[in-house]
Amino acid sequence: MEIVKKRVIIIGGGYAGISLIHKLKNYNNLEILLIDKSQQHLLQTHIHKYLSGHYSESDITFNHEKYCTQNGVKFICGEVVSINYDNNYLITRNGQLHNYDYVIVATGSISIFPKQIENIVEYTKDIKDINNLNYYRNKFLKILESEPLNKSLVVVGGGVSGLQIACEYAYTVQKRGFCKDNIQITIIEGMDTLLPGMDEFLINKAHERCKELDINVITKLFASKILEDKILLSNGDEVRYDMLIFVIGAMGNSILNVDKKVQQNQRNQIIVDEYYRISPYKNAFAIGDIVQANDVKSKLHQAPTAQGARMQAEFIADNIINEIKHKPLAKNNISNKGILIDLGGPNCAVGRLFNFNISGKLALWFKKLIYSLHSKKFN
Ligand SMILES: Cc1cc2nc3c(=O)[nH]c(=O)nc-3n(C[C@H](O)[C@H](O)[C@H](O)COP(=O)(O)OP(=O)(O)OC[C@H]3O[C@@H](n4cnc5c(N)ncnc54)[C@H](O)[C@@H]3O)c2cc1C
Repeated sequence: MEIVKKRVIIIGGGYAGISLIHKLKNYNNLEILLIDKSQQHLLQTHIHKYLSGHYSESDITFNHEKYCTQNGVKFICGEVVSINYDNNYLITRNGQLHNYDYVIVATGSISIFPKQIENIVEYTKDIKDINNLNYYRNKFLKILESEPLNKSLVVVGGGVSGLQIACEYAYTVQKRGFCKDNIQITIIEGMDTLLPGMDEFLINKAHERCKELDINVITKLFASKILEDKILLSNGDEVRYDMLIFVIGAMGNSILNVDKKVQQNQRNQIIVDEYYRISPYKNAFAIGDIVQANDVKSKLHQAPTAQGARMQAEFIADNIINEIKHKPLAKNNISNKGILIDLGGPNCAVGRLFNFNISGKLALWFKKLIYSLHSKKFN
């Protein structure tokens, strides 16, 4: 008797979508279709190394078509604009309709550019886009090659992403034999410290490293207005810049036509149930940055991380198989294992894994291991 394969459509081939395919691809009774609006998977966790010129494009982007062909998965490059959850189909921007048995929304997030900051849209670009990354990378490399003097590079946002970018830039500046008189790197963070809300050990290490790298750290002040060559801060101070990067957070990248029954939070993230299903639909799941889900240990909302995206993907892969086999579904058991932060240079990273503080070579080794485990999926 011929077995009818279940059709699974995954929307978004980022960290979450690719981790899901990786887990589901060996299950024979599925026909998997990945739809992504981009031809490339972008490894966001290592953007800083690309921006500094340390990594090449092939280190941080991987071709979706090639990956899918190698893994027996169909790929369509297109943007999903609506999902009809009641009738199990979705529509792409070019008007194509695709039926599914299961749909997984893994559309990630986009950077936040609050309108309260005057002119923010004119002078900033989303670093989650490879074209924008190329713009910033080229600009930085040009500055480096220009016998720089009195140049200013400003990163707004002192969270993990902003800190990693600033440290990587500052380390590259030092490695090229320049100092802060040549290129001054500045981080502007609105809260009291870098890495706001994180463990004290991480915060202290971040500040120490910024000191070592001569990074000018401005805290407790917000960017209020942006002009062509300077930022105005909330206390009226001005910071001149030759290059400006904004990384102050992200919000869910929701599909254009949102189903009214789907619950979203203020950051456009889908509020999923304890099985990561998009309530009230039994055959629709959401994973990755697009999701608001709780950490089972801390009871707080899970931070949008690559680590979380991978764990959620592996978790729902098992539940999709359970569902097909008419077995009971497992309930959310995901809890954050920790964080690793690259602080620029061959020996400088910091982290907290399973409640242990780590730093230096060991932390960097773990960070590299995670990079190679993920990028290996594409080889
Ligand atoms: C600079 C930076 C540094 C980071 N560092 C770390 C770190 O050190 N550790 C860590 O754990 N996390 C880190 N993160 C966070 C991590 O990268 C994200 O949490 C992770 O990429 C989320 O994966 P995702 O699959 O949900 O979304 P994404 O990786 O953003 O993928 C979403 C995919 O969906 C596609 N898509 C979107 N909308 C549609 C649509 N309508 N139709 C079709 N396709 C669509 C996009 O093209 C994209 O390919 C970092 C992020 C940044 C920006």
